[in-house]
Amino acid sequence: MPYLTQLADVARRTGHPVTEVAGWQSRGHGPQPEVKGIVCHHTAGPPGGGDYPSLAVVRDGRPGLDGPLSQFGLGRSGHIYVIAAGRCWHNAPSTSAAHANSSSLGIEAENDGTQPWPEVQKEAYVRLCAELCREFRLPASRVKAHREVNTAKPDPHAIDMNEFRAAVAALIEGGPAPSWTEEIVKALPMIRLGDDNYDVKTVRGCLFARGHVPPAVYEAVEDGLEGWLKSTRCDDGLVDVVRLFQRDEGISDDGIIGPKTWPSLLRV
Ligand SMILES: [Zn+2]
Repeated sequence: MPYLTQLADVARRTGHPVTEVAGWQSRGHGPQPEVKGIVCHHTAGPPGGGDYPSLAVVRDGRPGLDGPLSQFGLGRSGHIYVIAAGRCWHNAPSTSAAHANSSSLGIEAENDGTQPWPEVQKEAYVRLCAELCREFRLPASRVKAHREVNTAKPDPHAIDMNEFRAAVAALIEGGPAPSWTEEIVKALPMIRLGDDNYDVKTVRGCLFARGHVPPAVYEAVEDGLEGWLKSTRCDDGLVDVVRLFQRDEGISDDGIIGPKTWPSLLRV
């Protein structure tokens, strides 16, 4: 898994304001290897006011622990700060394999550890977790308090995690309105052997752009690659290339471009 440069877009889907903290897209202790869980924290920051006074600490670290400490910050106003797209030092040692630094994302919500949580901040917290679960196809049960996956930690204080997870699950179940790209993909036609239309050309172009068209495929074609890309016919050669692509993507290799294959081809 590379640097998770989609995190700002995921955060925006909550409807809460988002700040992309300068440099976040390449910030991290290397890329994030995988995302199997979400860990909720409180910053234990200063007791005074301000939306997110812990930003510098979460971004840059503190004595003995280099930043970034977590991918997200959450201000008292429900404002989301996207701090890092790579791995962060937010939970070690973890008692859960799905919630270690290499397998989970961290959210550091501003709170000194005793303050009541503003409603808007709690609402944003639940929404951010729900959107992350959707993005990484996780059930709400993978959202954990730091204190649930690290016995030495108390955070986040005063949040009933069962209630919290139930709220996340309700949001996931309710589902978002399909994005416009999902609507477009749903409207794309099925393409199979024998079809002859301009959508076939699109498939050829996408396969080539994804690096799935080896030279052997078009060497014998008139005009070579150009001729291969221009053809509007779904022939046996194209179906073979589609099957290889499907296998690489872990999709059933039926050679038909339908609702499973289009999103992979278009990377949506
Ligand atoms: Zn914590």
